Amino acid sequence: MTNDSHSLPIPFALGEQVWWVGNGYREESITCPECAGTKALTMIRGNGEQVSLECNYCQLGYNPPRGVVSRIYYDHRPTLFTPRRVRVDGDEITYSASEPDATCYVTAYARDLFTSQDECQARCDILNAERTRAEEDKALAMLTSKRQSLAHSVHYWGNLAKNLKKQLEQVEARLAVVKQKPEGGQG
Ligand SMILES: [Zn+2]
Repeated sequence: MTNDSHSLPIPFALGEQVWWVGNGYREESITCPECAGTKALTMIRGNGEQVSLECNYCQLGYNPPRGVVSRIYYDHRPTLFTPRRVRVDGDEITYSASEPDATCYVTAYARDLFTSQDECQARCDILNAERTRAEEDKALAMLTSKRQSLAHSVHYWGNLAKNLKKQLEQVEARLAVVKQKPEGGQG
């Protein structure tokens, strides 16, 4: 530890049991909300034409759709925590519950630790509400952007198909003209 920065009081004594908001993070696989697990979507274009496509919401990169997506849930609840080590990084104080020779680290920010279980519960409620809302906003933004790119690709591939058909017709017409020409001529 260097002494050249301002000193910061260490709020909790090592070895003294306190309440922690817990890890509170759970990831689960759920049925894709966009295709209901069918992996396909039907789009109806402005002119009433129906287009069936692979679901891009449950697709990762260029892989085929999976029919499921992972969703993150926040479920913080007061959890007993015994600080064994403390680390100060700038104004941030982090406690570790692990022994120095542990292979698995459980760390907690000082702001997420409380001596009173009620205060800890209050912090858990705030964290659950905030993080769940952020997660829902993110999911909605993702859905919107995936729908836009889906609409874009229907438009893009539809136009490309139309243009290629037109080109094919032009090529075939050209070939028909070539065939009609008398043979034997050079080039
Ligand atoms: Zn899907």
